[in-house]
Amino acid sequence: MERLTAFDLVIIGGGLAGASLGRVMALAGYDVLIIEKETAFRDRVRGEVLLPWGSHEAQLLGIYDLLVERCAREFLREHFFLGGATSEPRDYRRTTPKQTCGLSFYHPAMQEALLLSAAEVAAKVRRGAVATSIRSGPSTEVDFLQHGESHTVSARLLVGADGRDSRIVGLLGLNQERDEPELFTGGLQLQGDLDIEHALYFSLHRDGGRGSILISNRPGNFRAYLLHHKDALPRLLSGQRDFAEVKRHFAEIGWPAHWLDALEPHGTFATFDGAHRWIVGRIPESFALIGDAFGASDPVWGNGLSRTLRDVRLLRDRLLATSDWVMAAGQFADDHNEFFKRLRRVERLNAKLHFAIGDRAAARRQRAYDLMERNPEFRPDVTGNGPDIEGLDEMERTLLI
Ligand SMILES: Cc1cc2nc3c(=O)[nH]c(=O)nc-3n(C[C@H](O)[C@H](O)[C@H](O)COP(=O)(O)OP(=O)(O)OC[C@H]3O[C@@H](n4cnc5c(N)ncnc54)[C@H](O)[C@@H]3O)c2cc1C
Repeated sequence: MERLTAFDLVIIGGGLAGASLGRVMALAGYDVLIIEKETAFRDRVRGEVLLPWGSHEAQLLGIYDLLVERCAREFLREHFFLGGATSEPRDYRRTTPKQTCGLSFYHPAMQEALLLSAAEVAAKVRRGAVATSIRSGPSTEVDFLQHGESHTVSARLLVGADGRDSRIVGLLGLNQERDEPELFTGGLQLQGDLDIEHALYFSLHRDGGRGSILISNRPGNFRAYLLHHKDALPRLLSGQRDFAEVKRHFAEIGWPAHWLDALEPHGTFATFDGAHRWIVGRIPESFALIGDAFGASDPVWGNGLSRTLRDVRLLRDRLLATSDWVMAAGQFADDHNEFFKRLRRVERLNAKLHFAIGDRAAARRQRAYDLMERNPEFRPDVTGNGPDIEGLDEMERTLLI
């Protein structure tokens, strides 16, 4: 057993949430320890599209240029296909509130880059280390295992940044609430020589129920997501055995034939339930949660990375504003809950609008699309605004009749 070491901040998890918080707090002069269980990151089928509102969050955190230098590529436009028919691409910088574009990257490369960047500014990083238990009391402590040895460290604030199946949430005895399953996202990679603009390609099946996203996550390689309503497919797809089936869905959704000819699936293919999950009840003093550990949104709408960066920014700002970190953590939790609620609401509106199936849903969709065409201010534009959309009440009233 090693002697106890004290840190200002101990962060469990070195994903986007933990690594970026570790970096910004170490830069602000605090003693930070990040505990990350993986020694090398591999594809877990996670977010590889940072939407324009998240790019703004990255700018506010001072990590945007770093991402572009080390792992990310900017994409300036979104191409939308409905039943295979394309419309005028959206120019993000011209049409988003902060005039930002999106970033794409291979998720494991982004994690490596950010975790390294945290270590470069003197955050201590333990890789291959798994947090096993936590204690509160006069001092807040965490035990972790690394290379078969047990270690204990203490912290002024302990942050759970350990993702959607957070162990820290369980160790804190917190309850998670979740929506009923509605939409699902199957993610896989495709490789091949497809010469198209580096942009986000969002497609919806003409009859609703299914959609897809395609974007290059590194040269010669693409990330694709098959998005679908729970009743649109007879079973959830996963693994190599379903590669042919997923391509069949992409063809039916309306992918151009030359995309399907050029691209071959490879690697991990897994489907995830997009039901929102959030924490009920107060987080104990001297603890905080960020990123997916605090609340997961629906991957269909691609807000997870942006939401995670907003958590990091809000927590950083609260911690830097006062030496009373118990109070700061409590204020941050309220900040998070307030914006998460709005994000969930707008995502659920979009889910009903674009993915519901049946004749009634199709008629509503047609009416709503016509209305949004004539009045773009009715579009629930989560890509540009994230949770900061104004006029949600009216949008719900008008679009969901
Ligand atoms: C299928 C799918 C598609 C998605 N697509 C998008 C998208 O296009 N755009 C978007 O914005 N978002 C997307 N997301 C969401 C996005 O990936 C997440 O919101 C984001 O990765 C959350 O980051 P995080 O750091 O909170 O969690 P994670 O990325 O899960 O990181 C948690 C880290 O903690 C480590 N860890 C876990 N337990 C322990 C432990 N006990 N001790 C030590 N370390 C531990 C893990 O190894 C991991 O490195 C998608 C999610 C899914 C599931």
